Amino acid sequence: MPVHTVTGPIAAEQLGSCLMHVHLLGGPDEAPGEPDLHLPDADAAARELTELAGAGGGGVLEMSCWDFARSLDGLAAVSRRSGVAIVAVAGFRSGATAAPQIADQSIDAIVERICDDLEPAGEGTPASGAIKGGSGRGALSEQDEKVLRAAARAQVRSGAPLLTHTEHGELALDQLRVFDREGVDPARIAIGHLDRAGVERQLEVLATGANIVLDQIGKLKYLSVEDYHRILERLLDEGHEDRVMLSSDFGRRSYLHAYGGEPGLDHLLRSWMPALIARGIPATAMQRMLVDNPARFLSYDRDSQGRGADVRGDVDVHA
Ligand SMILES: [Zn+2]
Repeated sequence: MPVHTVTGPIAAEQLGSCLMHVHLLGGPDEAPGEPDLHLPDADAAARELTELAGAGGGGVLEMSCWDFARSLDGLAAVSRRSGVAIVAVAGFRSGATAAPQIADQSIDAIVERICDDLEPAGEGTPASGAIKGGSGRGALSEQDEKVLRAAARAQVRSGAPLLTHTEHGELALDQLRVFDREGVDPARIAIGHLDRAGVERQLEVLATGANIVLDQIGKLKYLSVEDYHRILERLLDEGHEDRVMLSSDFGRRSYLHAYGGEPGLDHLLRSWMPALIARGIPATAMQRMLVDNPARFLSYDRDSQGRGADVRGDVDVHA
């Protein structure tokens, strides 16, 4: 089954090392006045990805969604210029940030919008290849429920992978309960931002059969290399190397080399990964988390529910 990138479907084994939560273009709708949070520059994005490719990166999941100024055409141009595969997402970060777009929409209308977005509107037109949902803090709000249920129903209908935003891991189990009620296979779910929630919470999520993305790698103010070493040792000890994926969720100019920031999107592969391997995390486990798991998780047949073009059996591989 192929991975659905913004430049078309590719064979899953073409993806290579894939960072499973990045930002290249976009920024939060609710904070228009904070320049550091907005990534408007396609040239900068292409330079950042070219560096990532130099460190061995083959693909990224670009998690800027509909309340984050997503640009499918922009991402397609950046992918062509850098040679790095980009998978884009349909959906929202949370009920609060989605509210201006969904307050007067039914869940079914949101499901339709997501499913339409997952299908190219025409030959060569970019489409998303994954679904995003998420929630805020404390307890699921009515709008959070709406975002999560719509994402879940779109997942069941399309077969696309479903990834979530949590506030530092809060409400991860509540998200999973909503998805379970809607009939989503946990293997098609990946919960995000669990790094600082602690390894016990990570294990609780993994016990449901869902995947996790440790996506705060390189934000040294939060977790050090030693912290990740401890986390990964435990998760691998408990047998979860097939359910963990990795990334650097750098939604700020000050994290990206192309804007003069540090440590750059190539940090994970160039510096963090070798440091973890030197501390004893097996290179084979890194290969699972960076290559095999993203390839398996992101691939699906677009026509599995009778929608869209038939890509089964005859995969169109783009460079
Ligand atoms: Zn993000």
